Parts: sequence; structure tokens; C-alpha cells
Amino acid sequence: MKIFRNALYRRHDARLEMYRGRLVPCHETPARLDHVLAELARRPVGMLLEPLQQLDLGAALAAIHAPRYLDFLAGAWDEWVALDPANAQTDILPAVWPVRGFRADVLPESFAARIGLFSFDAGSPIMAGTWAAAREGAACARSAALAVAGGERAAFALTRPPGHHAGPDFFGGYCFLNNAALAAQTLREQGAARVAVLDVDYHHGNGTQTIFYGRDDVLTVSLHGDPRTEYPFFLGHADERGEGAGLGANLNLPLPRGTTVETWFEALEAGLAAVAAHRAEALVVALGVDTFEGDPISGFRLRADDYLRLGERLARAGLPVVLTMEGGYAVAEVGINVVNVLEGFEAAAG
Ligand SMILES: [Zn+2]
Repeated sequence: MKIFRNALYRRHDARLEMYRGRLVPCHETPARLDHVLAELARRPVGMLLEPLQQLDLGAALAAIHAPRYLDFLAGAWDEWVALDPANAQTDILPAVWPVRGFRADVLPESFAARIGLFSFDAGSPIMAGTWAAAREGAACARSAALAVAGGERAAFALTRPPGHHAGPDFFGGYCFLNNAALAAQTLREQGAARVAVLDVDYHHGNGTQTIFYGRDDVLTVSLHGDPRTEYPFFLGHADERGEGAGLGANLNLPLPRGTTVETWFEALEAGLAAVAAHRAEALVVALGVDTFEGDPISGFRLRADDYLRLGERLARAGLPVVLTMEGGYAVAEVGINVVNVLEGFEAAAG
């Protein structure tokens, strides 16, 4: 398996996020990827590669994200520091949002207003290196999709910050650019008539769902903690099935906190059945390992061996696969669990 590694992942190393009413150290840290790379050094299940050079990345990102959102993200840090040089010592967090009844069509001049317009939580700080790290991660996702479109059975975008919560014009949930959506769009652009995204992160892949909600060429499937109690709370219910041409091309499988491994794998089967029914020619797996029993912010009970089984099952789906790295916050175990998925996949893919 080709593994496209984001060499700039350490540049996004934000300090504090708002969590349960307090500013606490960010859960989404560079150490998460350190552990994956260390485990890959012990168990080399793939080839570590830099992203490709010829990517048309700007145009590819503009196919899934709004130009005014991309412009904002690219310049946010410079704007922030230009407001007050002392801001360089503080990461950017939004504090005001345009909820129902407010207008999103008028782009405010105020920086504080614009960062609210383009976000949905106060848990996803932007710092000096956020754009560089996120953009390089997108390059990894696009490279992985191009490799698979070119005939590779599987490729992995090993990157952070993650992507599946980022929507057409908003960031949140530690995500800025939607790597899984970019991979799916790239597979479509390269000739796959129908693509599926299967999101196995603990949290609903709201950004990916929203990006493709009106389309029938990209099926989005997510199995996740029930949004009635679990982040991101406001999307991810079973009755969200797509709209317009996309009606029937979105499947949510919400599961209660504390769901057993057996029930989780039953939901995975239901998700893969939908992928087969969609007659997908390629699969994108948004791979979060925050389904792990020891995850500090999640509530499922998968153990390390279950990730081997997940990888095997994904391989047996028989499709070309792009995997993108999403969540997983039991930092020391993230490496073992992610590499278990890759090893299981490789073993079953033969
Ligand atoms: Zn997650």
C-alpha cells in the first residue's frame, strides 16, 4: 500500500480548545501521527511517500469547498496578526456564529465575524501553520486518490489535521479541509462513475455528508455515535437520506454510546451492503480510530485486534480503496490501531 505522509503535520500544533466550558490543551496533537509513524517503522506495511507534485490542488479543492472559504483559511493567520502583533502569541478561536435567521450571504468585514461565519465550534483553533499543514494533507489525500485511480489497490493519506467534519464552507471538529471528500471527488474526476465514502470514525462525518448531500454519484455512509448525545450533535441522524438527485445516497448508522464490538461490526456490514448496492467503483474510508475502548472523548469499545478485523473486512469488499486519517485521541494507541487496519487490509488483499 502506498502511504502518502504529510511532512508538515507538526506545523499545526495549536494550544487550547474550548471543551466542556474550559480552555484545555488540544486533543488533536502532532503526537498522534508520531505514534503512527513509529508503529510503521516497526511494522512496514506500506511505502512511505511524499505527495505528488502535479496535483492541480487549488482547482481540486475548489470543487468541494467554496472559494471564499478557501481564501479565508489561506489568509486567516496573517489577518489575525495584522489586527494586533500581540495576536501572534494566541491561536484564533471563534466566539460568535450566524445561527438560524442570520445572514450568511453577506461577507462581513470584521475578522471576528468572518471566522464565526466559516466555523461551527470553538474547539478548532487556527494557528500560524494550520493552513500549510491542512493543505499538505489535502495534497496527500489527492495523491492517494490519484494513485488508486492509476491502478493501485489501496493508498493511505497519513495526515493531520483530520478532515471529515469540514464542510463546503466551514471548519470545526479539528478539521479544515475535507480530505475524504477531496479523495472521492478526485476518483470521480479520474473516471470512476460512482464512488462511496465510508466513515468509520466515532463521530458523524457531517462535512462529507453536507458536501455530497445533493449528489447521487458519491454515496456517503457514516457509522457513528448517536448525535443526540455525541458530537457533532446537529447532524448524523438516520432519517438524513440525501436530497434532490442525492436522495437515497446518504446513509447514517447512529449507534448509542457503549455499543458493543459485535453491534458495531453489524453496522459496518450494513454500510458495506449500501456501498455494494450503490455499485461503487471505488471506496474512500474515513479512518478514525476513536472507536477504541480507551479513547478519552468517545464511547465505543473496539480493541486493538478489532482494527485488524476491520482492515480485513474492508479488503474483502473488493474495491480499490483510499483511506484518509481522521480521529483517534488515545494517543499512545493510535499508531497500533491504525497500522492494524492497514496490516489487516494488506493480509486480506493478498
Ligand atoms: Zn472522531
